[in-house]
Amino acid sequence: MALFDLHKRRINYLSISVTDRCNLRCLYCVPDRNGPYLPQKEILCYEEILRVVTFAVREGITKLRVTGGEPLIRRGVVDLIDRLHRIPGLVEIGLTTNGILLKEFARPLYAAGVRRINISLDTLDPERFRRITRQGEIEDVFAGIAAAEAEGFQPIKLNMVVMKGVNDDEIPAFVHLAREYPYHVRFIEFMPTGTGSDPRQQFLPAARILERVRAHAEITLLEPHRYEGPAVRYRIEGGKGGLGIISPVSNHFCDSCNRLRLTSDGRLRSCLFSDREIHLKPALRNGRSGEVVDRQLKILFQQALHAKPAGHRIGPDSPARLSRTMAGIGG
Ligand code: SAM
Repeated sequence: MALFDLHKRRINYLSISVTDRCNLRCLYCVPDRNGPYLPQKEILCYEEILRVVTFAVREGITKLRVTGGEPLIRRGVVDLIDRLHRIPGLVEIGLTTNGILLKEFARPLYAAGVRRINISLDTLDPERFRRITRQGEIEDVFAGIAAAEAEGFQPIKLNMVVMKGVNDDEIPAFVHLAREYPYHVRFIEFMPTGTGSDPRQQFLPAARILERVRAHAEITLLEPHRYEGPAVRYRIEGGKGGLGIISPVSNHFCDSCNRLRLTSDGRLRSCLFSDREIHLKPALRNGRSGEVVDRQLKILFQQALHAKPAGHRIGPDSPARLSRTMAGIGG
């Protein structure tokens, strides 16, 4: 089976946010205050997530990404991943994490079938890390990355949101990291999502990021790779890792978007920047038989596919006004 949207894009990737809570409060992602969070009863339980994913895989989803909020703070998440991993037809399961708890979780996650791991890391400086995340200790992330490497995760991607005047002076340090370690550093344009930081002041387009990278390394553009998502990838000469640049703002990649997103409260979003959401919970909680639920899910997935816009219009001067924070959507 295969899923296609109205623009003939094949949709085979589902990201699942398992919680809207996070153990960091990054400036550009969430507001200063904690919460308000979704009430527990609104959050899909693991059986419901498994039901949706089993259906989605049968329909044509092959790749899954578990995200949040911070996915590792939801109790029992490794067990969920283990069960997701066993769904026949699922080719790949990845995790996006801030790495704070990864030291403890690297081994069980690997045992549960995760191989691809994205770790968000915007600075290598402890003080700056505390400032950007409002509360984190960078040593925890370093320990998490080391544990992931020791366990054999492949690839380990380090995602840095580049912000002018905040951390752009560290582009060379991240290039160095990709040269010396087997890490795939991804520079991500700062998306104007209306939270915290000032996009007009802090946005640095991919072209400028690339100039800075080229000033510090000899890099070669790699062919697009169908498994590597939206990053434009580069080999770094003499390097152990790799580099990539993701430009959701200056150079949209909507033509090749293959994703749907499931929020922790059970809504399908067909575009990161579109607030049109399809509610799955009523179908999941109506007490009907499995067959009926599957028929309803089929209709709801079709609605999400039909709602998937050809593209978005977000630019440095046209911020998104989203009903949720990025932590609420899953990034
Ligand atoms: N807690 C996990 C983490 O930190 O990776 C997963 C959730 S987080 C919302 C997913 C990704 O979204 C992170 O890499 C984060 O940097 C990114 N993100 C959040 N807000 C962003 C923004 N305004 N611009 C670019 N990336 C953003």
